[in-house]
Amino acid sequence: MTSCDVINPATEELLRTVELTDVAGVDAAVARARAAQRVWARRAPAERAAALRAFAAVVDAHIEELAALEVANSGHPIGSARWEAGHVRDVLQFYAATPERLSGKQIPVAGGWDVTFNEPLGVVGVITPWNFPMPIAAWGFAPALAAGNAVLVKPAEWTPLTSMLLGELAVAAGLPADLFQVLPGKGSVVGQRFVEHPDVRKIVFTGSTEVGTAVMAGAAAQVKRVTLELGGKSANIVFDDCDLERAAATAPYGVFDNAGQDCCARSRILVQRNVYERFMELLEPAVKGVVVGDPGIDGTEMGPLVSRAHRNSVASYVPDDAPVAFRGQAPTGPGFWFPPTVLTPQRGDRAATEEIFGPVVAVLPFEDEADAIALANATEYGLSGSIWTDNLSRALRVSRAVEAGNLSVNSHSSVRYNTPFGGFKQSGLGRELGPDAPLSFTETKNVFIAVPAEEETP
Ligand code: NAP
Ligand code: MG
Repeated sequence: MTSCDVINPATEELLRTVELTDVAGVDAAVARARAAQRVWARRAPAERAAALRAFAAVVDAHIEELAALEVANSGHPIGSARWEAGHVRDVLQFYAATPERLSGKQIPVAGGWDVTFNEPLGVVGVITPWNFPMPIAAWGFAPALAAGNAVLVKPAEWTPLTSMLLGELAVAAGLPADLFQVLPGKGSVVGQRFVEHPDVRKIVFTGSTEVGTAVMAGAAAQVKRVTLELGGKSANIVFDDCDLERAAATAPYGVFDNAGQDCCARSRILVQRNVYERFMELLEPAVKGVVVGDPGIDGTEMGPLVSRAHRNSVASYVPDDAPVAFRGQAPTGPGFWFPPTVLTPQRGDRAATEEIFGPVVAVLPFEDEADAIALANATEYGLSGSIWTDNLSRALRVSRAVEAGNLSVNSHSSVRYNTPFGGFKQSGLGRELGPDAPLSFTETKNVFIAVPAEEETP
């Protein structure tokens, strides 16, 4: 069995060595999960609901431990890490209501009764990226378990620790053994085996569009269900009629949150040309004010990037002759630090079109509403975006015209556990979260029951 070193990205110190699951290990886990799923699905709905609430309660009792582990493994600021752990609890609580509400339909037909059932799929494989290990795992496992499935999670190799702890907490909470298993390992081994194993009935994949495309192609061989949450190059559109001070003050947090390692990052700021110069004057102090440093300290707003390899990838977008408008601060010394960076590239430049997944934002001027919409949509991605305007009609028109799954007007919010989340175009397939997520972990079964017409009484 091979192993992998997990590194603290703020200090470059070795945190732990994790054993990687091999193909035989995946196959054994799938077999155990299958058996556990049958037992789980037969349990009374109220019992399954209670088990998920117990899991949520145990997560709640370990928020500090989970958060500290994420700070160490991923370099997330402690305030964000606490939110992420609390979010796992909230997602579990929200979907704990599902088992008792997953009702089918009764459809009027001739000659009998017709009813539908939402049957669980069986074993679901969840493949997560390194940027938000806890929330993204929970978006898959909570509704899947709630709908009566077993779940196997393959965390990203760089950031497995909080997912592994969640696996232990599920057992501590009394969830049936093997119903929820976390299998650290390589994407090319564990992830690939999820795709190929006939008893894994659905893949929930979050990560790059490149790997997501390969997962979808692999799943096609078995007509396996997939949900994909992929990359983004989202637009923050600033119109001349908005509260420009607030738009500028909040723009850094719309892109530099989690050091820009966020699929929803508003990594293109589109600014109406007649307010462009004023906006840049307001943006500069806001960017320089982002508190970058030790993620373990309360008040830190941005930590390091996740790894040396990823920092090199981000840095490739800021060569010496890059059109840098201004930059914020970052610590020097050990750690994979990168300062918040504002670029003013041309529309077709690589920094303006490719997902950088780091604290680098491209600011681009536009002429009018039509130009803003065209520019916002000039990407193969379509995940999120923001629209800043005080004109209600314009806000509504532009919200409908931007091809993206998650938009916010005069804010940068995009993820709430009770509203649907996902991408247009190459940003994904299917939706997570919200009231309907459990249905994507079920098959609809239709049952017709013949009922002879009432006998005539003489
Ligand atoms: P990635 O390379 O696509 O990896 C994502 C996951 O897939 C990891 O667990 C990875 O394992 C695994 N994997 C790799 N090759 C695989 C294969 N052949 N078969 C099955 N699984 C495989 O993405 P990343 O580098 O971790 O994350 C960055 C990307 O994710 C960005 O593009 C970002 O936009 C996207 N993302 C999207 C969302 C969203 O909700 N839309 C959220 C977060 C991130 P290893 O760890 O072993 O590589
Ligand atoms: Mg990768």
